[in-house]
Amino acid sequence: MDNLSVDPEQRPATRTSNLSLTRATLLGCSLLLLAIFLLTSGLLIYIALGQNREAEAHNRFDIDKALQVFDKSARSTVKDYAFWGDAYRHLHQSVDTDWAFGRQNLGSTLFSDLGFDGVFVLDPSNRPVYSLIEGRLQTAAPPDWLRDIPPQLLERARQSASSDEATSRFVDLQGTPALMAAAALTPGTDPTVEADNGPASVLVFVARLGPERLAALGQDFGVEQLHVGGTQADLPALRLPDAAGVLQWVPARPGQQLLVLVLPLLGIAGLVFALMTAFILRRATAAARAMDAHYNSLQASRWALAASEERFRDVAEAASDWIWELDGQLRFTYLSERFETITGLSRTTCLGRPVDEVLTSDQGPLSQWFKDHARRANAIVQCNYFAGDGQPRICRLSVREMEGRGYRGTASDITEEVEARRRIEYLSQHDALTGLANRSRMQEFIEGKLKATPTLEEPLLMLSIDLDRFKPVNDLLGHAAGDQVLNQVSQRLQQCLRSDDLVARIGGDEFVLVVAGMRSQDEVESLCRRLIERIEEPFQIAEHEVFISASIGIAMAPADAILAEELLRYADIALYEAKDAGRATWRFYAGDMNARIIERRQLESDLRHAIKHGELRLDFQPRYRIEGQRLAGAEALVRWQHPQRGLLGPDRFIHIAEETGLILPLSNWVLQHACEAAASWPEEVMISVNLSPTEFQRGHLVARVKAVLAETGLNPARLELELTESVMLDDAQGALVIMQGLKALGVRLLMDDFGTGYSSLSYLRSFPFDGLKIDRSFVGGLTASGGDHSIIQAIVGLGRALSLTVTAEGVETIDQLQALGAIRCDEAQGFYLNQPMDAQAIKALLGARDPAADTTPH
Ligand code: C2E
Ligand code: CA
Ligand code: CA
Repeated sequence: MDNLSVDPEQRPATRTSNLSLTRATLLGCSLLLLAIFLLTSGLLIYIALGQNREAEAHNRFDIDKALQVFDKSARSTVKDYAFWGDAYRHLHQSVDTDWAFGRQNLGSTLFSDLGFDGVFVLDPSNRPVYSLIEGRLQTAAPPDWLRDIPPQLLERARQSASSDEATSRFVDLQGTPALMAAAALTPGTDPTVEADNGPASVLVFVARLGPERLAALGQDFGVEQLHVGGTQADLPALRLPDAAGVLQWVPARPGQQLLVLVLPLLGIAGLVFALMTAFILRRATAAARAMDAHYNSLQASRWALAASEERFRDVAEAASDWIWELDGQLRFTYLSERFETITGLSRTTCLGRPVDEVLTSDQGPLSQWFKDHARRANAIVQCNYFAGDGQPRICRLSVREMEGRGYRGTASDITEEVEARRRIEYLSQHDALTGLANRSRMQEFIEGKLKATPTLEEPLLMLSIDLDRFKPVNDLLGHAAGDQVLNQVSQRLQQCLRSDDLVARIGGDEFVLVVAGMRSQDEVESLCRRLIERIEEPFQIAEHEVFISASIGIAMAPADAILAEELLRYADIALYEAKDAGRATWRFYAGDMNARIIERRQLESDLRHAIKHGELRLDFQPRYRIEGQRLAGAEALVRWQHPQRGLLGPDRFIHIAEETGLILPLSNWVLQHACEAAASWPEEVMISVNLSPTEFQRGHLVARVKAVLAETGLNPARLELELTESVMLDDAQGALVIMQGLKALGVRLLMDDFGTGYSSLSYLRSFPFDGLKIDRSFVGGLTASGGDHSIIQAIVGLGRALSLTVTAEGVETIDQLQALGAIRCDEAQGFYLNQPMDAQAIKALLGARDPAADTTPH
């Protein structure tokens, strides 16, 4: 056994693989070529820099040369003038200005033609006796320049006279370098003039090296932009002798051109080389790898044999699986040591026992499975067992038949895996917040139930539930509070149902109940009643008591539909009907709705007639300021005196008017009559008129309101328009424009039915409202003992923060009024204060009031 075992450490050391050899060789070549490439580049740069340096030295030499030429010509010119008998005669002892300047012997041409900026004659005691500056004769004080003439220059000029030499020197002439050339005045070769023996007068020519002269000088010698400088560090500099200044120029840099031309080419060559190297490396590596693989496979087969027995031992004990063997009677004959570690069961007690006593399967007894399936290659079965600690666990057996001698295989514990899978499945089927079924689980559930074909006697019920007044809980108390309410709602809903019914949450505050086994309509209605009662019980959320309610729509299979989707849609339609009917109630789909459709048609044609023939009436319901109980205004509420049906409330016909477009003539009628009535009321009483959302979509609302105001003469500030947030839902931008138009007329805007919509809060902030009316469903919850305080208080606070007048609608009791007063709500409206009344009655009410007196209603 020992001679077969293999020491893994020994294997790789015996042979260097083709792969590493190839890699090393190629790497060496690449490095060599890289070095050559780098050397070439370095050399190139070195040459270029050398060229630059050489060019600069050339420039320096040329400038030197230029200055020498300039100096030499100045000296020879001054010499010509100084060693001249006539000049000696007219300038040495006494100065003949007429000869010198007047007759142009030493005049302005020295500047204009020869370029000397200054011409001076200094007498033996160095006083200026003749001065020209830029060709002009200086008669007054001697110029400043004279101070800059170095005395050594004059001294040298006098000394050099004997050798017929002129002398010169560069000086710094007030910031500009200048060349001064000087020579002593001598009779020269003129025999007619006799020299005296005293010290000589000196003639000085000054040429300034101004910018143009320097540039021209440079140009003559091929030097670019020669100038006085010293500050530009990147340019070469040349110091003039005697600290007369520093010259700079822009050097020719031939090396630069070389680099610009050659370096990119070199770069490209390098890149091509690198790519080629990479390509060759890949090809060579692949070839080497193939050779290695071949070699290794040969080697491997040798090792494989040696290792197999050992591997079996290792695997048997190190793997998370355990190994088992069963004999022909399906009794355990072998269990690996891992069996005990993993299952916590004892090997000795299990050996010899039938497989069915240790393991079970979901598909019946395991022994049966062995008879049916175990002959297949790669047979696998999932089993359950109880571990040593009594916990149920799951394992997967892979089974192989041992030619009539029984079976053997491995078993892996997959408890965690199965659990994780179940968890994921659960999550994909359930709502994370409440743990209720989600839409997809519900769909599945309904489909399953529909397959069992419900009957008319025992239908499948679909209840679509929507929470009333839930939105403000979220908005005002925060999402955490909203989540708590939803959680408690889901628990309460589940408590109302049996365990084989389903509660699903399919939207923010929308739930669906799938219920079977209800035999009568009464039974269903009592379930609905129970559901609503449970939801209306107060929720305790931190220090708040929250009150909400629910509306329910019901659809039934097979009476209404037999498809899941249709059932859902019908339940939804019924839900809208329930909400329309004032919420906190339920409606069945079918019958009910058909009847409505027929009635609607009839009403529609009647309504056309009604508007024209004066069957409409207006009632007015007063609104009071709670503090002081002063009457603040009245809301116009339309009614229809139907010839057959009697007096109809707006809830019966407004939506028909909206759907058919009759809302425009109807609304015009209301607006007109409301404003007319209000025009005869005391000035401080407001009139509120309800607007329908459809009026925002069509009709020139602003123009219509403007026309009515003009016609009735009502002060626009007394007109209030009440609109619900649905106005803003469809086309917020368009609504905003219209609202701004209305505000420009001077009327007030109120948000009606606040709290019943979806996003009232954001609309309050971004639209120009003057007030809001809290929906009466909130006020209904206010009781003497407290009740729905938190939400109303929060709405009042919000209204105050946004400077809005807050009106509570539907005040029916003195308790409610007092509660509203306590939380400082501004205004109240409701049956407790006044029922809606006709025009005459309100006129009487208003007339009866003495504005100064206490005006408590009732
Ligand atoms: P709304 O704007 O919320 O009007 C207030 C409704 O609440 C009125 O019902 C009023 O009679 C009722 N109400 C007043 N106080 C109380 C109370 O203490 N308790 C209860 N339970 N109810 C009270 P009404 O007159 O049936 O009007 C219903 C809705 O019809 C109005 O609701 C309004 O939205 C609409 N409406 C009424 N007149 C017009 C109109 O001229 N044009 C338009 N577009 N809609 C109108
Ligand atoms: Ca209203
Ligand atoms: Ca209202």
